Amino acid sequence: MSTFSIENPATGATLRTLEADSPESVKTKLARARAGQSAWRARPLRERIEAIRRFRGAIERDKERLAAITTSEVGKPIAQSRNELNGLLGRVDFFLAESERTLAREEVMADGGMVELIEHEPLGVVANISAWNYPYFVGSNVFVPALIAGNAVLYKPSEHATLTGLALAEALHASGVPEDVFIPILGAGAIGAAVSDLPVDGIFFTGSYATGRKVAEAAGRSMTRVQLELGGKDPVYIADDVDPKAAAAGTADGAFYNAGQSCCAVERIYVHEAIADRFIEAFIEEVRGFKVGDPTDDTTYIGPLTRGAQLAVLEAQIADAKQKGATVALGGARLARPGHYFAPTVLTGVNGTMSVMREESFGPIIGIQRVKDDEQAVAAMNDTEYGLTAGVYTKDRARAERILSRVDAGSAYWNCCDRVSPRLPWSGRRHSGLGLTLSRYGILAFTKPKAWHLRSPG
Ligand code: NDP
Repeated sequence: MSTFSIENPATGATLRTLEADSPESVKTKLARARAGQSAWRARPLRERIEAIRRFRGAIERDKERLAAITTSEVGKPIAQSRNELNGLLGRVDFFLAESERTLAREEVMADGGMVELIEHEPLGVVANISAWNYPYFVGSNVFVPALIAGNAVLYKPSEHATLTGLALAEALHASGVPEDVFIPILGAGAIGAAVSDLPVDGIFFTGSYATGRKVAEAAGRSMTRVQLELGGKDPVYIADDVDPKAAAAGTADGAFYNAGQSCCAVERIYVHEAIADRFIEAFIEEVRGFKVGDPTDDTTYIGPLTRGAQLAVLEAQIADAKQKGATVALGGARLARPGHYFAPTVLTGVNGTMSVMREESFGPIIGIQRVKDDEQAVAAMNDTEYGLTAGVYTKDRARAERILSRVDAGSAYWNCCDRVSPRLPWSGRRHSGLGLTLSRYGILAFTKPKAWHLRSPG
């Protein structure tokens, strides 16, 4: 039997050591889930919805304890853990309100004794391999609609969010989702790989492009349905007609919230040269104001990085940028304290050849590049293999829409960024993913259509 330890990224202390699953135990869990799913699917939709309603109540009642668990293992500042839990309630509300209508049988034709119906059947047993950065959001985008639709879920939280994953399982079970219908699978990447090799009916993955590719390859071998929510290198363009201070405040938050560890964090900024000096000055001022420190402190805005290994990635991006002519306008190094802390870093004089403008940083670091006009901004924003989100700050909505309609990204932001809505489809293009979650389409994603052709006799 193998074990793995959960580390507190702010201190390096071991929080708990847990028994990991094995390729054999994962297969046993799949067999349990198969049996559990047939009974779950047979329950009326309203009963499944009521279980999720009780789950919502459990989360709301237990918010403080849950926020503390996440902060202890992910290092997310406690105020931001609470924000995530509040956001989770809104997402669950959306699914509670929309599922019945979305999952109802649809009559598409009735004529002369012939009726045509579309029924949305559950996929069966789905695997949910999840990321650590927003464990409540990215998990619930999958398991809430999957369960409501009548699926059983094998839930593999990231090893860095294992305690949060266990707390979610406990809350679901206490709310009436049977233990054989939502089954946590624990362990590191190798167990994730074992899960993606299972003969399940769908694999729903959230994580990096590199791992997502491996999962897609495994799913391809068995022709299993696969959905991937992957990373981004999300650009924002600051046009020449905005208030530089307001734009700096919005985009600095978008870049540095959760220490930049958001899939839709602002990762590249392009600023019109006419406003660049004033914007950069205001941006640096804003970032200087961010409080870095102990994530359990209510006033902390930037905590440690969750994974220590990411510190070296940031150092390499900075070294590459400096060597190619960039200026470190703020920060630029690890902080000399226990835990995985990196100073909030702003690089100027960057360009599209630098890794900081090409590869996901996933840390408190941003490059700001000057552009001469909207045309150059569009070209720079599209100069990427990713396509999750893109934003434009301008007073002129028509100008923003003109620019954003030419950018190949799943979400388009005008005067906002780093934002997800349960009512809208969340999808990445190219290296940012396959398929979608959220919105009514994100409920149907956990179903397969059955086409009924019904002819009345005589
Ligand atoms: P990883 O790709 O490292 O891991 C994601 C999950 O896959 C974890 O549960 C991990 O387990 C597991 N895993 C690791 N190796 C394998 C493997 N070979 N086969 C199957 N599963 C495996 O991503 P992170 O957890 O570090 O998350 C950060 C990434 O997620 C960023 O790129 C971010 O942009 C992206 N993301 C995308 C979102 C979106 O909606 N588009 C939302 C949130 C994050 P373990 O952690 O235990 O190794």
